[in-house]
Amino acid sequence: MKKTILLLLLPLLGSAQNPAYKQASNYIQQHKEMMLEEFIQFLEIPNIATDKINIQRNAEWLMAAMKKRGIGDVMLMYPTTKGAPPAVYGEVRTPGATETVIFYAHYDGQPVDTTKWALGLHPFKPVLVPGIYQTDGKPLNIREALAQETSRLYARGASDDKGGVMSILNAYTALKESGIAPSVNIKFFFEGEEEAGSPHLQEILESYANKLESNMWVICDGPLHQSGRKQVVFGVRGDTHIEVTVFASKRPLHSGHYGNWAPNPGMQLAKLLSSMKDDKGKVLIKDFYSDVTPLTAAEKEALKKIPNVDEALKSELGFRYPENPDLSLSDAVNLPSLNINGIQSANVGKLSSNVIPTKAIASIDLRLVAGNDWQKQQQKVINHIKAQGFFVTDKEPTDEERKQYAKIAMVELSSGYNAQKTSLDHPFAKRITKAVATTSSTPIVLTPTLGGSLPLFIFEKYLNTKPVTVPIANHDNNQHAENENIKLKNFWNGIETFMSIMTMQ
Ligand SMILES: [Zn+2]
Repeated sequence: MKKTILLLLLPLLGSAQNPAYKQASNYIQQHKEMMLEEFIQFLEIPNIATDKINIQRNAEWLMAAMKKRGIGDVMLMYPTTKGAPPAVYGEVRTPGATETVIFYAHYDGQPVDTTKWALGLHPFKPVLVPGIYQTDGKPLNIREALAQETSRLYARGASDDKGGVMSILNAYTALKESGIAPSVNIKFFFEGEEEAGSPHLQEILESYANKLESNMWVICDGPLHQSGRKQVVFGVRGDTHIEVTVFASKRPLHSGHYGNWAPNPGMQLAKLLSSMKDDKGKVLIKDFYSDVTPLTAAEKEALKKIPNVDEALKSELGFRYPENPDLSLSDAVNLPSLNINGIQSANVGKLSSNVIPTKAIASIDLRLVAGNDWQKQQQKVINHIKAQGFFVTDKEPTDEERKQYAKIAMVELSSGYNAQKTSLDHPFAKRITKAVATTSSTPIVLTPTLGGSLPLFIFEKYLNTKPVTVPIANHDNNQHAENENIKLKNFWNGIETFMSIMTMQ
């Protein structure tokens, strides 16, 4: 009887119960002060991708931190474009291991507006506090912070994504210092311009393709699920944009003298946009959903298990119904979307005047899921605009065209990229998921597709390797904004998570 209970418990507790693993966890317990000191030092170096001098300082600091840990082959990987920030690379070969995992995080951060940070906080002067920062609260020293469960560390990059970098490196240190060999070869890849849109990542991947060979990329970026549970993310949506300008008269007209007679571009644009979606948020553009790769059984199952945070979010955000009341948030992000990012015509409010404007503009955002091609998706929208009776051009209309066509739309296309998805059944991803699950007392969330977009297709395209994302930060981390922070608890937990992946079976 006892044996049965043990067998039932083992898969739940997994490596956390393994004595060697316990030793590594103890190592973290005993070295928290040192690890936190080092993390703070790293956060003190400003890390905006365009700040060349400081980005270089970050890269060099990181190289030294990696060498100090005994990581091999530490180097800076520069893109072929001169002056762009390098990625910091290093590797650890495990005797007998035949598989390799690359751990990715980025050391650059979003630009900062120091005036927006709360009084007493500064993006590059890290501050430890007992919970959410209060301007009248007293900062804690490292010891005091470690004594409290709810402590947070405030600084740019604390959660996005220097926290990721340091939890990966410390996971390796804890294993090494405890004499535990990883089960795989480990490579480290820390990017220096992710927040600038990774404009040179492709160049680095192409130039160093041989060195970057692996079985899987593990991306540490972003927050845990809103429910507070750990999550493994298997995909991201793709993204592209279209700008549509509808033209009426060549000069603004008096709305009294000409109203009811002259065409109104605001009205024309409103009608055009409203023809794109029905009352339930379904996009009416022909074939809009036709090339979507259907969700697999495993993905449908995973979606059902994602904790529903819709009610809490609706009340936090102050609206009653989603566009489609039948779709949950997690279902909705698994479909391609069409959203209006902005509309402009003549002025409103105090600046409004009695005119019929000359044109009206809308910026449209198209998010894509697996199966969609960003250029085809743009073309579907163009075809729809034509089908509504518009003459479509890519430049301002000529006088000739104005005479010839009743409705004219100028369409400007942005570039874009496709979605990326790793199968939930991918054997390697499954092992990673299992390893993450052993570090959590609650079930972890498997997210087939993140609502946001990242150019993760790039790993597939240039290295033929699939990525999965394992975030560690608290969801209320103020990522990309002022007062960015990480809960120390999440940082320690993140180290455990990566230790578990490095020793996965
Ligand atoms: Zn990030």
